[in-house]
Amino acid sequence: MIIILKDNATKEDADFILNKIEGLNLKSLYMPGVERTVIGAIGDERVLAQLNLEANPCVEEVKTILSKYKLVGREIHHHDSVVKIGNTEVGGDQFHILSGPCAIESLELALESARIVSQAGAHSFRGGIYKPRTSPYSFQGLGDSGLEILRAVKEKYNTPIVSEIIDINDLEKMAKNVDALQIGARNMQNYVLLEAVGKSKIPIFLKRGMSATIEEFLLAAEYIYNSGNENIILCERGIRTFETATRNTLDLNAVAYIKQKSHLPVMVDPSHGTGLRELVIPLSKAALAVGADGLMIETHPNPVLALSDGRQSLNGSQFEKLMNELKILAPHFGKKI
Ligand code: PEP
Ligand code: MN
Repeated sequence: MIIILKDNATKEDADFILNKIEGLNLKSLYMPGVERTVIGAIGDERVLAQLNLEANPCVEEVKTILSKYKLVGREIHHHDSVVKIGNTEVGGDQFHILSGPCAIESLELALESARIVSQAGAHSFRGGIYKPRTSPYSFQGLGDSGLEILRAVKEKYNTPIVSEIIDINDLEKMAKNVDALQIGARNMQNYVLLEAVGKSKIPIFLKRGMSATIEEFLLAAEYIYNSGNENIILCERGIRTFETATRNTLDLNAVAYIKQKSHLPVMVDPSHGTGLRELVIPLSKAALAVGADGLMIETHPNPVLALSDGRQSLNGSQFEKLMNELKILAPHFGKKI
């Protein structure tokens, strides 16, 4: 619930209410404003009812938070959140470009990919080392040995690194070596993993499950936020529909909808969203126009030889072309790149 205090309420009045909320093991939020102070109380609705704050003389109004996603929604938190990945920002007026190969295949490939994307102006580098592949016979990633490669890329190109976590046991070593953790589509509803990454402060790049509704997506983010980690970037990566011409259907409705309902930054992945490299540039421009805060693009020095997702990966010159077009367009949509 949202508790609005009277304009003559003191800090002691606010502390009294905050203690009462915390005493019931509910989550409290303290939001002092210029004109009046607002307090949030979040948790089990049956326990919330016991608070009976309407009777408190320093309380002006008590409102119920209507949406299910209370912490990531805009009812309590109106302004846009900006999340940092290393020294770069996602959200606000920054249009963030995260790019690299689907999988880290070797040191040479990783360094060459990083050279291509950094020189063209990407803000951060991605590459999976633990790959959740649909078939057990597909390349599963380099595993732990890939961590050293990611570190080498970071050192050489001074770029923040994003990589996917699929196992809670990898959390500590990954958090030491990367700047943000990706939770992939297949793990969006792995609540044990969501709570584990929620207990760390490392930024989380949360991809939408391929069959998840927007509400389920936002509630997955709510798990992370509720566990203590506010550094969440959402990523629309396409959903399963009856359409088979493209790998997925990139749901740009979701981007516009979520931007209205949630304060979290939203990025778009047109690579997995379409599965076809020739559609990546058009859908990237559409994502910018619809209000996304950035893009995740798969780029590979030689996509034909890629061990995973080559068909949807851009090569160096295609990535450069994408960046050049975005640099012209971004200011028209209130973004810098
Ligand atoms: C990826 O980013 O390479 C990936 C596996 O994405 P998703 O989880 O969206 O399928
Ligand atoms: Mn991929």
